[in-house]
Amino acid sequence: MNASIPAIAPKGTNGAPSGVIDTYPSTDPDCWWSASQCTTPKASGVKPDIAAMPEPRTLGYGFDDGPNCSHNAFYDYLNSKQQKATMFYIGSSVMIWPLQAQRAVADGHEICVHTWSHRSMTAFTNEQAFGELWYTMQAIKLVTGYTPTCWRPPLGDVDDRIRYIAQQLGLDTVLWKYDVFDWEANDPSVTPPVTPQDVQANYDKVIAAATSGTFNTTGAIMLAHELNNYTMQTAIDNYPKLAAAFDHLVPVGVGYNKTQPYVETNYSQPTFQACEFLALNLFSSIPVTFGPLHRPPLIVLLRRFPSYRRPKLTIPIFADVAARGGSVAGPPPSSSGAGAKPSGTSGSNTKSSGSGSGAQTTGSGAGVTLRVSGLTLVLAFIGALALVL
Ligand SMILES: [Zn+2]
Repeated sequence: MNASIPAIAPKGTNGAPSGVIDTYPSTDPDCWWSASQCTTPKASGVKPDIAAMPEPRTLGYGFDDGPNCSHNAFYDYLNSKQQKATMFYIGSSVMIWPLQAQRAVADGHEICVHTWSHRSMTAFTNEQAFGELWYTMQAIKLVTGYTPTCWRPPLGDVDDRIRYIAQQLGLDTVLWKYDVFDWEANDPSVTPPVTPQDVQANYDKVIAAATSGTFNTTGAIMLAHELNNYTMQTAIDNYPKLAAAFDHLVPVGVGYNKTQPYVETNYSQPTFQACEFLALNLFSSIPVTFGPLHRPPLIVLLRRFPSYRRPKLTIPIFADVAARGGSVAGPPPSSSGAGAKPSGTSGSNTKSSGSGSGAQTTGSGAGVTLRVSGLTLVLAFIGALALVL
């Protein structure tokens, strides 16, 4: 592979930048995002970055630097809003917090790679850059059962050499155009200091731009983080405002109708239209333009959008991962993942569960047992009541 990789020298050593940016040509021959925010490669055969959303008034909703050991409150909040997002996970953190990574899949979020050690990718050799991506893909596969097909470079540091290596691994490169700089807030090493007020002003700028029509033709991708409690709380605080300013908040892959976000084919997420249609017509408490009589029953929607059916869970529990001795090349899990949440794994399963028998047609055995038990209890209760009366 080395021979076909664009011949661009590493811009540093072991992921640490060398300062070459100060002498880098203004013509930007490498399409180096750090120098020019270039997202359209200059090397032939390299796919352009994803830095905006094709759908108008749409925000590609995502968070970097997870999984986070204390992200349950944040993920609970997203669940309460039936909101899915793209989560850019650091490989080494996935190994430290595997249960938290599993939750993202169980909740229906889209997982992308955010490298193994979160350093400057252009400052790695070809082999090191390959390792940063490949080992993260394998860690996510090991823990969740799924292999990502997208990645985001830490600090946005990517050039055509790194893009090419990612592309050969089957990874789409996802950047952004709006940064709320939540990751820099309260960090004493940052000069000049970034305050929470600065971060809120950055959120407000994106919200104001959406409200004033900036994204009426092309949607936006914004950089935010699940890095720490402050960044997650700030995301929660701003969610209602973003949801009001944009027509749609969707995972990046959904905006691109990427219905198969992973290498494995037993998982799918909805198209943009399906996501939008279902969100508007079935699950939102916001009045919609056509009345309830025009809303098709859930079973019809499930037939129309089979990806919304509850898939059989294939997420391994942590003990299962440990039992495999941490083997990266281990076989895909075949059990139904007793440790995973029973709410399913695809785009709107959280929404569809309990809304009709159609949603349960491919449910797990445990779910069926629970429902039978519930029915038995109800019948027993009615019987007991009849005896008493
Ligand atoms: Zn990051």
